[in-house]
Parts: sequence; structure tokens; C-alpha cells
Amino acid sequence: MKRLLACILLAAVSAAFAASDYPVQPVPFTAVRLTGGLLQSRQATNASVTMPFALGQCESSKRVLNFDLAAETMRRRAAGETTFQNKPPTVYPFDDSDVYKAIEGAAFCLSVQPDAKVAAQLEDLIKHVAAAQEPDGYLYTWRTMHPDSPAHDWIDRQRWLKDPQLSHELYNLGHLYEAGVAYDQATGSNSLLNVCLKSADLLQKDFGDGQPRIAPGHEVIEMGFAKLYRQTGDPRWIALAKFFLDCRGTGNEYSQNHKPVVEQREAVGHAVRANYLYSGMADVAALTGDARYLAAITTIWENVVSKKLHLTGGCGARAAGEAYGDDYELPNRCYNETCAAVAFLFWNHRMFLMTGDAKYMDVFERSLYNGVLSGVSLSGDRFFYPNPLEYDGKAVNNHGHAGRAPWFGCACCPPNVLRTLASLGGYVCAVQDDKLLVNLYAEGEATATIAGNPVKLAQTTRYPWDGQVAFRLSPQKPATFTLCLRVPGWVQGRPLPSDLYAYEDATPAKWSVSVNGKSVSVALKQGYAAITREWKNGDTVTLDLPMPVRRVTGNPKIAATRGLVALERGPTVYALEGVDNDGAVFDAVLPMSAKITPEHRAALLGGVTVLKVENATKAVRNESGMFTSKPANLTAIPYAVWANRGLSPMTVWFAHDVTNARPSPRPTIASLAKITTSFHRTEIDPSCLNDQLLPQNATDGFAPNFNFWPHKGSSEWVSYEFAKPTPVKAVNVSWFDDTGTGECRLPVTWRVLFLADNGQWQPVAGTSAYAVRKRDAVKVTFTPVTTKALRLEVQLPKDFSVGLYEWEVE
Ligand SMILES: [Zn+2]
Repeated sequence: MKRLLACILLAAVSAAFAASDYPVQPVPFTAVRLTGGLLQSRQATNASVTMPFALGQCESSKRVLNFDLAAETMRRRAAGETTFQNKPPTVYPFDDSDVYKAIEGAAFCLSVQPDAKVAAQLEDLIKHVAAAQEPDGYLYTWRTMHPDSPAHDWIDRQRWLKDPQLSHELYNLGHLYEAGVAYDQATGSNSLLNVCLKSADLLQKDFGDGQPRIAPGHEVIEMGFAKLYRQTGDPRWIALAKFFLDCRGTGNEYSQNHKPVVEQREAVGHAVRANYLYSGMADVAALTGDARYLAAITTIWENVVSKKLHLTGGCGARAAGEAYGDDYELPNRCYNETCAAVAFLFWNHRMFLMTGDAKYMDVFERSLYNGVLSGVSLSGDRFFYPNPLEYDGKAVNNHGHAGRAPWFGCACCPPNVLRTLASLGGYVCAVQDDKLLVNLYAEGEATATIAGNPVKLAQTTRYPWDGQVAFRLSPQKPATFTLCLRVPGWVQGRPLPSDLYAYEDATPAKWSVSVNGKSVSVALKQGYAAITREWKNGDTVTLDLPMPVRRVTGNPKIAATRGLVALERGPTVYALEGVDNDGAVFDAVLPMSAKITPEHRAALLGGVTVLKVENATKAVRNESGMFTSKPANLTAIPYAVWANRGLSPMTVWFAHDVTNARPSPRPTIASLAKITTSFHRTEIDPSCLNDQLLPQNATDGFAPNFNFWPHKGSSEWVSYEFAKPTPVKAVNVSWFDDTGTGECRLPVTWRVLFLADNGQWQPVAGTSAYAVRKRDAVKVTFTPVTTKALRLEVQLPKDFSVGLYEWEVE
């Protein structure tokens, strides 16, 4: 009965879904060729360096071995070794997904540039994947290689049950389906698609009747199923995409499981999960015509763009939980995972495909040129996981690395960059009825089909360094249609379609269009200059988008940007890096009188336009601790290419006037002291204790902390040794507590000791209360002593460790 009902439902669903999709259709990346300029050069490095590098890392990090070990376990058990199992050699049960994403990225590269050797390599890799699939279609190496008991806390004894928590079984499959479709489209080989369909059949068997209601713990399977549906036309796949969306609403905000998706109105929780979810909701809205999903993501998008987006188009400000913060919680030492920015591109593009509104591609462009491109080095083989808007030049903030890293234990970001840059052409233009919409300006050629008529569109431009774009149209036969050229928000005087940021001078720039050399007057429609006429082979259009340098301010509700200013030109957000500015950037002041001139430097950082700033100043602290300033000339580089010349401080926001500058602090008793500790792990830098860096707010994951983890319950200490006997009378301690993400809590008790003349440690006398609290520094005064060393003794809680942001001494 249940089956029959399911069949009837399915029939109804298929009828409803037939033939509907996004009203705007992208011109596929296979029909677009980038031939020069910034995007092409990044794409070329992506194909020649990042792609082989990522495939190599999948091998050397033993992610591919996981598949072999799963296959071996099945083979040996089938041959009679019924207790044989393998222990996974990697760290996370979601490591399979990195292999799938690397295959997807490599497949996209093959679509752009066929390569028999790479194709053979992928076909071989896919054999390893297929061999790890269980006979009924189940594919998850961590269970298959170790079937008798879970090989990780995140895995349940039964399939799927812990997916809403952390098993990532459905997450891996979502990436598998995306890869299977990409590989089929690139090579015409269905070897990986067959693995996908066998897996999808199992999901239909396990979930197709609407039970059990498992809400995917890390979304992406919704997008995966939408792609599988488009590739095969099988309506079961879109029904499953919808099913997995509709299961949500029984869990927490971290995985957007706190409410049914159609009732969600704010971006919350883990930002990659969130942006994948919203993209999946867009797909299901498009394919089913269910407007409730679109209503929800439209409101959520407005929440992000008006309250939760960094100037660079990065999102997910909090390191804790890799999550969206509260409204206006946009610290400069933020997290902004590369994957979150990539997923934000997917979501914005889908919002555009649904509405045809250019504002979504304005936001897309901001994220692409800044928050996404920053995720990979110019060399193509070094990556950022987080993308902060300021950096002190030394913090180990990139998942255990200071500066860009070759790979990560959790390696989601590098292959995400790979697949995105490889398929960049797919975001250049789109078709809606008789409209050809051009979204990205880049040297190259696209072929779109408008009302059955193939139209070639060639672009010649130096964008993003110059706003002049020349188009040449070659329709196969003359035809009347509308050419829509996006006129970005920054031309019109606003950084985002919201009041989150503003230009100090918001005067719109005078953009213009000419057709066959003659200036034409064109109105803006949904952000596009729309030109309707009969187009003939050889017609030319010139678009001129002036690129004045813009000074940007943040909404006063953003605490981190008060009194600060940033610089933009065209779609590019700029940053100061120490290497161009005498080693320091936080002392820079940019008064209104500063003269800012763009200057193209072909030999710098792959060829960039820098901003030369004359008549700026640098703040210095005089003897009495007050600020004065000295004249300085500054050079700003595009944010996306920071950290390509070694470690150096960097900031996107600089002081508007001298009172807001942050010159390096004056040395203190603490900052000059030598540190010893009872214990710390090798990855911990004890100088966090006296680096004079405090968190910018309660959720700033990047104020470096010192901690005793994994020691728990013990008594530990840290000591400052002074160069000579020094009078001391108070300490200020800022405790670190990562409840919710880690195992550091406030101490049970603590006290201050000094090194007495007899060489013994003695408690200081006459102390004020040893308070213990989060966030603000705790000050303890005591009877002044003169000593060569001071010690903090800390009792750790029974099951937890303790950490400190800073320990100051008066
Ligand atoms: Zn990532």
C-alpha cells in the first residue's frame, strides 16, 4: 500500500516537474572560451597546476587508498575471511568527497581542454571508486572497510542514522553525483554516472517512501540530485532532492535544521552548509515550481547582503562553527571559509537564473574577484581555508599554517576552488527568451542560442583593470533580440544592493554604450543596459564602465569598521600589505586629502593594477603615548593576491584619521619577558600570551590564544622571566573559552607567584579577588614586589583544559 501510494505520488510529482527549470538558462561553460586577461590566467593555472596537484594530493594523503581498502575488505570477506577489516588511514569520514570534487574539477578542465592522459587517469581513478561500492549501491569507504564497528564517533552502527549529526554519508554522495554528471558531460563516459545511479537507486529504496526522515547533516545532496535529474530526466531524483529539503526542522541552527526550510528567514549556522542548502532550495524551487523555497531564500539572501557579508564578498564570519555570525557581526579578523565563498557564488548564480536580476551577479562578481580568488595562490598550489580581512603577519590562522598552505587535513577548500575556476565560463552569460544577458566581462568568446539561432559573442577587454569592453556579435542569421549588458552596482555608486557599505562619494559614474561606433541612449532594466535591435554578423558594441577609485565606509552598526575606510576600484577590493608599505599597515591613515592613483604593473603579482596613495600618513606614538603622524606614500594591492610574497601584515580597512590608527603597541614588561610553560603542544606559539593582541569581539576566532590542551584536570603554569629585577603590582588576564567548539573552559582556580630572592616561588600577597570570567580581562592587584620572574598557576577543570588570550603585567 505504502509502495502504491509512493508510486502515485511519484507520478504526480513527475507530471508537476516536467519541463520546468530556471527561466534564465546559463550559456554552458563548454560554450564559452576565455582567451585572455585575469580570469583566463587564473583558469589556466588552475588547469595546469591546481588540477594535477589536487589529484596528487588525493593519492598522497591516502584518500584514494580509502577506496582500495574498502574494496579489499569486501573481497576478502567474500572469500571467507569473515572478520577481516581495515582501519581508515585518513582523518575524516568525509575524505571521500575531496576525491569526488577533484574528479569533478578535472572533468571540467577536460571539457575546456581535452587531454587524453588526464582522461585515462580519471577513468582509472573511477575504477577505484566503483570497486568500493557495495553490491546494493552503498558507497562510504569508512563503513565498508571497517564494517563490524564504527571506525569513527561520527558513524552509527546502522547506515544513515548519524547523518543528521556528522557521518557525512549523504554529503559524500552529493559530491559524487555532481562529479558523475560532470564526468559524463566532459568525456561521454558514464562509468562514474553508473556508480551514482546505483547509489541513487539505493537511496530511492531506503528513503523513497518518505521514511526515515533523515535531514542531511551537511547539505549538498540536494544540488547533486538536481544535477542527476537534469542529466537523466528521472523524476525520482528531484523528488528525493525535495524530500531531503523537507526533512529539516528537527535539529539545531548549526546545520540549518532548526526550522522547516520554508520557514527559515535568516542565514545561520555553518556557512558552507547554509549556502549549499540555499542553492539546493533554489534548484528545487526551479524544478518543482514551488515558490515557498524561493520566498525563503530571497529573504535569507537579503539578510546576508544587508547584514552578514564582508566587503570582499566573504561570508561565515565566525571561526567557531565556521558559521554566519549575528547581524553586523563582521570582524576583520574573520573566518570566511573559501568554500563558503564558492558556495555563495553557486547560490547567487541560481538567484539570478530564477529572476534575471543583475543584482545577484553584482554580488557574485564581488565574491569571485575578492573572496574566492583569494583562496588560491597565484602559483595554483597554495591555499587559504579562512580569508580574513586583516592579518598580523605571523598568526598561525590557516588550519595550522601561517600563510598559504599546500593542503589541509580537512581539504574541502582546494578542490572546491579547482572545480569553480575550471567552470568559470559558465557564469559569463545567459539566455532568457529573446534576451542575451552578459554578466562577466572577460576576454573570450561565447556561443549562445537565441530562439534557435546560434549567436557568437566575442569580448575584447582588460577588465577588471579597465572598464572598456568591446563586443562583436556574429549571429548565424540576422535576428532581432535584446543584448543585456550588466552595469554593476559599483558603477551606479553602491557597493552592494543594501546599506551595509557605502561610497564616501556615491556619485554614479557615467557609463555609456555605443553600437557600431554610434553612441546610443539605453535605459537600465533589472541592472542591465538592454539594447533591442536586429543584430547582424559583425555588429559591434562598446560598453564603457568608468572605474573611479572609491573610498568605502561600513554601516555604523558594524563595530569593526568604525572610523575606517577601504578602497575599491571596479570589482576589485584593495588591501595594504606590509611588503609594499615599510613592513607595517595598521598605522596607515588615509585622510580625505590623500591622492589615489591607479597604476598598472604588468610584472607584479601576475599583472595587477595597484593604487598609489600620496599624501597619506602613518601614525606614530610619541613619548607620552599620544598619536602623531608622519607623511607617507602607500601602495594598495588587490586583496585577492595578498600573501603571495611571504608573510606580511595585511589589512583591507585603514584608519580614516590618526585617532583610529593602530601603530604597533609600545613594548611592555610582559611583551619583553621570556616565556616558559609547564606544558604546551608544538603547534602552540607561547608568544600569544604577550603579543598584545586581544579578540575584537566575543566570537573573534583569530585572536591567537595559548592553551594547555590536551592536558585536563591538572595544575599547570606559565612564567614570565624579566631581564632584570622588575617592580610589579598587578596582572591582567584574558581567559579563552571555546565552549561549543573545543575543550577549553575557565580555570577552577588560579594565582600569581613571584620568584623570591631565595630562588623559591612564593604567592604574591595582599591580592584582590582572583575573578574568573569570559571576554574582558580580569585584573588582580597585589602588594608590589620586585622580582626577576612572575608565574601564573592554573588549576584546570576535571574534564577540560584552559587557555589564555593575553597576560599583561603592570
Ligand atoms: Zn572548505
